[in-house]
Amino acid sequence: MAKLSYLGLGVMGAPMARHLITRGQHEVTVYNRTGAKATAFAAQYGAKVAATPREAAAGADIVLACVGNDHDLRQVTLGPQGAFAGMAPGTMFIDHTTASAEVARELFAAGAAKGIEFVDAPVSGGQAGAEAGALTIMCGGTPAAYARAEPIMGTYAKACRLMGPSGAGQLTKMVNQICIAGLVQGLAEGIAFAQKAGLDPLEVVAAISKGAAQSWQMENRHNTMAEGKFDFGFAVEWMRKDLRICLETARQTGAQLPVTALVDQFYARIEQAGGQRLDTSSLITLLG
Ligand code: NAP
Repeated sequence: MAKLSYLGLGVMGAPMARHLITRGQHEVTVYNRTGAKATAFAAQYGAKVAATPREAAAGADIVLACVGNDHDLRQVTLGPQGAFAGMAPGTMFIDHTTASAEVARELFAAGAAKGIEFVDAPVSGGQAGAEAGALTIMCGGTPAAYARAEPIMGTYAKACRLMGPSGAGQLTKMVNQICIAGLVQGLAEGIAFAQKAGLDPLEVVAAISKGAAQSWQMENRHNTMAEGKFDFGFAVEWMRKDLRICLETARQTGAQLPVTALVDQFYARIEQAGGQRLDTSSLITLLG
């Protein structure tokens, strides 16, 4: 049992914090920007509530977070009310936000100056994976920090791996998003093609989904894509945030992402039509 704090009780953060209490039996203090969510969570699961990240972090062995983006992460860590101001030397911060490798390295350095370890630990598996406690987690940091973080994250992970020094977890998550982007577009084109050709897309997928074209997206999204339902997972606006990070990093490293850049433009069109909260399989709506 450890004394933990969790910052950010959103779609992903709330189930992770819940598993820390119910599966891990840890003592957890929670902070959420919209306080009502933290109060409701605490009443249901028996956590303590803090009014600021700093207050939540005070006295904790390990502080965890899952907020939106780089800006949000800086807001909950830095400054007079940020978590780092409340953390003692020898403590650790585990960040589950999907953010840039730069902000991870920046916070690793800011933490190190105060004797705080920082692990970037973005997740894959979506809301369903978080609810089931079956996330995949890719980490960046020192081996010693990772060894300390792993058993804590194990309460809601099915796979967890140290990828290298600070930032390596975020870089690995970028690879994950790059692989997904082209794949979802391919699946959208396949289903739209089947429909135009007069085939039943469900029959088509039943025929091909055990062969070389199989994918998680095919297994889990073909049905709803064919029905034109797009409320089943990761939102377009989150994907655009992630692809922006990928494209900026590619510019810095010289990597080429032609298909990813194109798919990002397709998502921009969906956003312009008001579809920012649709899930990423909504790419098929552009192929009607
Ligand atoms: P969400 O439901 O919108 O939750 C975001 C959380 O961050 C909320 O608790 C929000 O507080 C808090 N927050 C945002 N900005 C903040 C700020 N400036 N200061 C303090 N708190 C702030 O998002 P989510 O779906 O859980 O996603 C969180 C992260 O996980 C993102 O980086 C996302 O890319 C990543 N991710 C999501 C999924 C998914 O399927 N949803 C999958 C993998 C990775 P309020 O309640 O006050 O808004």
